[in-house]
Amino acid sequence: MAWVEFAFPECPVCSRSWAVSRHRDCPADGGRSAGGGGEGGLDVDPDRSQVRCTGCRRTWAVWETRFHCACGHRFEAQEVEEAVREIIRVASLLAQVLAQQAKDLAEIRRAGEVSFRAWVSRFADAVASSLGALAGRLVGRLLRALD
Ligand SMILES: [Zn+2]
Ligand SMILES: [Zn+2]
Repeated sequence: MAWVEFAFPECPVCSRSWAVSRHRDCPADGGRSAGGGGEGGLDVDPDRSQVRCTGCRRTWAVWETRFHCACGHRFEAQEVEEAVREIIRVASLLAQVLAQQAKDLAEIRRAGEVSFRAWVSRFADAVASSLGALAGRLVGRLLRALD
């Protein structure tokens, strides 16, 4: 089981999308000042189709997710089913690849932060060219799952 950053699917109204989805009105965010993103980020477990908020630690089914776009449009996961399925597919592939690389990664990390960052950047480029830009964006974030 692995948690992968849950990308924000393309908004049906304004066609924008982001690398990260955030938990709207996250209870863990109460009282925190503006800036720095505030609300908790969302991770997805592709194997179980579950979403988790990194702020309040709540989990729920991917298909119960409601997205709030910056343009003001609100949409349900079902309305963008194809895009959400693609996010889950890419997340699942990445989780597998990283599980295979986990040992190498631990060694690279021991060698130092600079070589680790270089590896991450090369890996992200390789993933982006084979799986698409969405996957490339997810890679850096995904690595925290291995910490
Ligand atoms: Zn929008
Ligand atoms: Zn939350």
